[in-house]
Amino acid sequence: MSLDEFKIIETYFKKPFLHAQKDVILGIGDDAACVCIPAQERLVAALDTLVAEVHFPIEWDAYDIAWRAVMVNISDMAAMAALPKWALLGLTLPHSDSQWLERFAKGLQDALQSFQTVLIGGDTTRGPLTITLTIQGLTVQQNLIQRSGAKPGDIIFVTGALGAAALAYQSWPKWQHFLPEEQAQLLNKFQRPIPRIDLGDILRQYATSAIDISDGLSADLFHICEASQVGACLEWSDIPVHPLVQKYKKDTAIAFAISGGDEYELCFTVNPKDLPAFYQTLQSSHKICHAIGFIEADPGLRYRHNHILYPLQPEGYQHFK
Ligand code: ADP
Ligand code: MG
Repeated sequence: MSLDEFKIIETYFKKPFLHAQKDVILGIGDDAACVCIPAQERLVAALDTLVAEVHFPIEWDAYDIAWRAVMVNISDMAAMAALPKWALLGLTLPHSDSQWLERFAKGLQDALQSFQTVLIGGDTTRGPLTITLTIQGLTVQQNLIQRSGAKPGDIIFVTGALGAAALAYQSWPKWQHFLPEEQAQLLNKFQRPIPRIDLGDILRQYATSAIDISDGLSADLFHICEASQVGACLEWSDIPVHPLVQKYKKDTAIAFAISGGDEYELCFTVNPKDLPAFYQTLQSSHKICHAIGFIEADPGLRYRHNHILYPLQPEGYQHFK
């Protein structure tokens, strides 16, 4: 069945989000939305666009496309240690297909709900399938955690084992050589990323800089270095690599893990004087982060392996390259 623009908005986006939070003064239906921001807090905003065949295969289940659109945005909130609150959706559709919209709306709802975020507005147009989502969140902190805050001597951390999403992306759609449970694991990493909002409190206490590593660890760590006017040295054997990447990439596993994109873990830096308290907080909150190197004054990236230093080229995904 084909629906007009207003019916689409009403059925798939307005109705499911009617019972919004108290802080939404005006949601979907007027010319713009209005929300309430507590006096001591700051608004943090991010936008990401997903284009069919650039960011996801067009044949994907619309549920997964929506999930991904939400999570790539929420990951930017995680990197700022902000709490996501409100979303606006720019949806461009080639045609109005109610079955597709049904799945998309369900994915959107589930993904937003899992982070207590509500849809407060958007725009619906016809054209090549493109999903633009903006997320707005709150942070209590006066001095934001920025990419520019890393100092020489700071220790570099990542929040999880790397490379599985990139392995899934690279293998898509030829999965036959993976075991069924491995396929499920990889697909989950690739299609259902869970951004690290859970680390917000810890980052606000201890991080001097932070970034999400959706372009790949080396590329995104390089962004921290450039913004902070410093360099970084990685300890090669300390880089956490996903077991499936170890299994299928063998000798090139680490290089693959640090240059693979679509990763929704975080990379951040901590002042060495704060390390004992930081480790204690991690332990008491049952979180795991991996120390992978340190910041240096000398610009650029390098890594140390068996006591020898090697230069490291930041590699990751870039449009227009
Ligand atoms: P306008 O012409 O004033 O921009 P629209 O007809 O585009 O209004 O939108 C009507 C209402 O529906 C607005 O509140 C808008 O934010 C909301 N809306 C439109 N498209 C979407 C969408 N895809 N998701 C969520 N809200 C939407
Ligand atoms: Mg509009």
